[in-house]
Amino acid sequence: MARSAALFVVWGLVGCVADDGMIEETVSLDDEEGDAYDPLDPLGKADGFVPVDGPLVFEGACAPGDRVTIAAVGDVLLHGALQRQAFSVSPRYRSLWLGVEDLLQRADITYANLEGPTADGVAAGGRSVSDPGPTFDNVVYTSYPAFNYHPTLIDDLLTSGVDIVSTANNHGLDRAAPGVDRTVDNLDARGLPLTGTRKSGDTESTRPWFTLTRAADFQIAWLACTYATNGITDRNGQVLFCYRDADRLEAIVRELGARADIDAVIVTPHWGLEYSANPDVREVDMAHRLLDAGALAIIGSHPHVLQPWELHTTPDGRETFALYSLGNFVSGQTHLPRRSTLLLYLGLTRTSAGSVVIHGARYVPLHMTTNTDGSKMVEAIDRVGGDADSRELTVAMFGSYNVYPPGAPLVLDPQCDPGWEPPSPPHPHDGWIGGSCVDDRACGGTTCVVELPGGLCTEPCTGTCADRAGRALTFCVDLGLGGGHCVAQCTTDAECRTGWVCRARERFGEPPASRLVCVPAG
Ligand SMILES: [Zn+2]
Repeated sequence: MARSAALFVVWGLVGCVADDGMIEETVSLDDEEGDAYDPLDPLGKADGFVPVDGPLVFEGACAPGDRVTIAAVGDVLLHGALQRQAFSVSPRYRSLWLGVEDLLQRADITYANLEGPTADGVAAGGRSVSDPGPTFDNVVYTSYPAFNYHPTLIDDLLTSGVDIVSTANNHGLDRAAPGVDRTVDNLDARGLPLTGTRKSGDTESTRPWFTLTRAADFQIAWLACTYATNGITDRNGQVLFCYRDADRLEAIVRELGARADIDAVIVTPHWGLEYSANPDVREVDMAHRLLDAGALAIIGSHPHVLQPWELHTTPDGRETFALYSLGNFVSGQTHLPRRSTLLLYLGLTRTSAGSVVIHGARYVPLHMTTNTDGSKMVEAIDRVGGDADSRELTVAMFGSYNVYPPGAPLVLDPQCDPGWEPPSPPHPHDGWIGGSCVDDRACGGTTCVVELPGGLCTEPCTGTCADRAGRALTFCVDLGLGGGHCVAQCTTDAECRTGWVCRARERFGEPPASRLVCVPAG
């Protein structure tokens, strides 16, 4: 009942007119359930976006110098069940990520997006009420569509190794201005630095939008922004907006990037289309603009699903990095792409010339698991096994070479080891008809025939194969499997993977024709 009433209030705000007279946004859909998902378009949907294909290797990787390692995870988005869990067990919120806590602590600096206020005694609309203490009362501490968390969440993030959080996100104003004030006070009091919001009355001189962290003798500037605040007007100017404040954002980045006492500028925007694996044009344009202005890395969040990473070389020749969306770190969302996420490690080197370069980026595939007793926790898949479907979704986007095995030393530039050999790149047919497979999951919706050399992703046909634009052409032949099967066309043996050869074959069924296709050798 309370939930549907709250929903009505928020839906009533959809498309509201913001102070600047523009229709600012549509409301967030980050409810617990749903299965909408726009998978990654391998050709890229956004102009200028170039997904990294294969190993992510930075030119300056092997340069000697001082080093620092940064870890980053996505949204800390605590739906009701997760808050109830935290209030009922002794590790509290840490019970949600205890299995990866050592991975958070392994880096010199660890970042997370704190998606909602931690405002004790503040109810809907910023109303001051008596605080119920650590209990999910649905008045002070609430879930979708307006979140608020008990401030002990901050203690637990600190204990687990989180060193810096973004508070600029679409839930930043879920308790209006008093909620931001209380959240900033609570973070300040506990010593967890934040970026992207500030207290009523703060100015650039009393509290700048950026925050500096120091670790391993590196001073890093963090700067967060959000695309919007779910239709709640920012009356006191407490939130930095990515697009509305784009000029100011760029100016801050430019200023920080030019400062000799700052080693690197990292921007953490909250942006993008929910449940889409494809960065939109606005994200890509803004990322490039900020990187070109002096940022070294962009680490995005909000879509609740992963979006790919990119190596961007700026006009002045710097190699920079963007990961468009880290997805949820912890959430109550259960659909596969929403419970599949990663922990990013980014390594920086200060060279003898004094410039700071990226020496590597690797990731740990993570998965939000529901235990048989209903409790939830995020796990490192390669540590616990299973969750193959989740791992496959993530690895398909970020590459198997770039996976960091949680048991290994934290090396982000393995190619700098003289004994290192490059991994063989995936064949263009892999993941599609003609590709290798061990079961159907590698076959993009088609079937794996495991008896053929290396396995064959294919589908039955009676004369023609369905048009699959953007991928290798296929042709219907008799492989002795009974009926026709689609295989990849070729013009040379090199186009066929190991164990297969390029040969002319008659079409199975009608109309008659022959083509060069990949068939099993011998
Ligand atoms: Zn969000």
